[in-house]
Amino acid sequence: MTFDFDNSGVESRIGFMTNPLLRDAENRDETSLPIALERPDARFFIFSGPKVLLRGGDEPAVAFLRETVDMLGGRMEEAILLGHMPDGGEGEAEGIPCLAVPAEIEEEGLAEPFKLETLRGLLYSGAVSAEEASIAAQASAMLHWHGTNRFCGRCGEKSAARIGGFRRDCPACGLTIFPRTDPVVIMLAVKGDRAVMGRSPHFPAGWYSTLAGFMEPGETVEDAVRREIFEESGIRVGRVGYHASQPWPFPHSLMIGCICEAVSEDIEFQVDELEDCRWFTREEVRMMIEGTHPDGLCCPPRKAISFELIRSWCDG
Ligand SMILES: [Zn+2]
Repeated sequence: MTFDFDNSGVESRIGFMTNPLLRDAENRDETSLPIALERPDARFFIFSGPKVLLRGGDEPAVAFLRETVDMLGGRMEEAILLGHMPDGGEGEAEGIPCLAVPAEIEEEGLAEPFKLETLRGLLYSGAVSAEEASIAAQASAMLHWHGTNRFCGRCGEKSAARIGGFRRDCPACGLTIFPRTDPVVIMLAVKGDRAVMGRSPHFPAGWYSTLAGFMEPGETVEDAVRREIFEESGIRVGRVGYHASQPWPFPHSLMIGCICEAVSEDIEFQVDELEDCRWFTREEVRMMIEGTHPDGLCCPPRKAISFELIRSWCDG
């Protein structure tokens, strides 16, 4: 069996993968944020809890000028500099600064066409460009990390954001901490013309998807894939092939998508995590993708990496 699945152009098929910002990480310092805030063309991604401010209507957007932040009472003192849009215009070599800012917004008080939208809503609805949705994912992950790391984990003192929000320092003990990304392995185990998928009790009716789980410290991607597949389905896995990754801001994960080769067939699934887990033939999976399965079974929506893994194997 070949593991040479085509992942060219994958960015256009998976959501949150096309973040265009120049991060310029090596030059971030204490001046980066104040300089960005001085720019009248700076764009702000405004979040109320996990939801992002979306302007619907004819010109949908999730990036706003400062006046919108001020109008909604955004906490500018907690703003984070995400990076710069590469095509700055006006001769600005570094581009337009993009920032994230938290606010407390009463959804009922918002006037049309403004609303608060979940990131899943943004991903699957296609309400804004893939680029804006990708920046929103970064913004959400960063704001969540700051919101849950206000105090030093070593001495308990209040920590403070530094270098535009890409670090927090403890003034008492000197501990420095950086934004987290939690790796998750998500994989399709295949054997010949069949693949393993499972159903979580939280899934919509008829959904089956790839298995997934958090990586643990000291583990390789390959070991995590083998462990998760075995724990959830009882199937043993040999070769593991990397396919693509997807930033997954719930709250700040990175989905590492793999296709792997099952070397056993008997399924004994983990009943506290899955409602069902079984083998599917390629023909059956094709019907699930096309929405023509006789039992109404289906796959996760496009834009999710699980769909990409399933489709890639199915077409491969
Ligand atoms: Zn400390």
